[in-house]
Amino acid sequence: MIELKNVERSYKTGHTETWVLRRIGLTIKEGEFVTFMGPSGAGKSSLLNVLALLDDGWLGEYWFGETPVHSLNRKQRADLARQRIGMVFQSYHLLDDLTVAENIDLPLSYKNFPAKERQGMVADILDRFQIVAKKDLFPSQLSGGQQQLVGIARAVVHAPALLLADEPTGNLHSTQAREIMELFCQLNRAGTTIVQVTHSEENARYGKRIVELRDGWHTRDEPLPAKPTPEKTTPEKTTEVGSK
Ligand code: ADP
Repeated sequence: MIELKNVERSYKTGHTETWVLRRIGLTIKEGEFVTFMGPSGAGKSSLLNVLALLDDGWLGEYWFGETPVHSLNRKQRADLARQRIGMVFQSYHLLDDLTVAENIDLPLSYKNFPAKERQGMVADILDRFQIVAKKDLFPSQLSGGQQQLVGIARAVVHAPALLLADEPTGNLHSTQAREIMELFCQLNRAGTTIVQVTHSEENARYGKRIVELRDGWHTRDEPLPAKPTPEKTTPEKTTEVGSK
């Protein structure tokens, strides 16, 4: 679904050029759930922004399916992002003066869906995410976890093929974080390809593959065993954990 070849990114400050992505080669297949990890400043967000088509200043090749992103102009990239990609941010990025339903409708308003169909899609996702009762509230009237649910609803309402998330639980407490990660797993099981950036080992375990970056280099790439579901935990194991 995604192939990066020799992707490089640098920033110029005065006379110095700092390289933040170095010859990145990466293939992500449809249905994967990938986690970018690595120390602060390693280039994780920079790489996610390249994938999200939020950044134009990189070199190399980026294939999105059959589409050579590197050959597209800015408008074509923006169209591709609107059609195929959803993005979730650590600080939610909701519009404060729009209601929950209006925030979720926003990506649909950029497309040529008839208003009736849009209303139906928003109603469906409010229902799926169990936030129907919040639809007329403003973001400031919601908890952080609820705001992030709305952020994810907005990112997936147009059924993107690729969902990108930059520290999606970074501002949440652990129970809310687990709920958000469970939701990512459901979306992934339903066929959405997911790439997240996180510092959290626990969040990473919800994914199926870890890509590690260090100083802009792709230094490690390995599959993860499936996360055991609570039902599969053996009684012996539960006792062990409880006795610690
Ligand atoms: P991470 O997400 O792994 O913490 P980032 O991708 O945010 O890392 O940043 C990688 C490096 O790129 C850092 O050294 C950061 O300072 C630098 N960087 C990111 N954005 C900019 C920018 N707009 N201008 C200059 N340097 C930047």
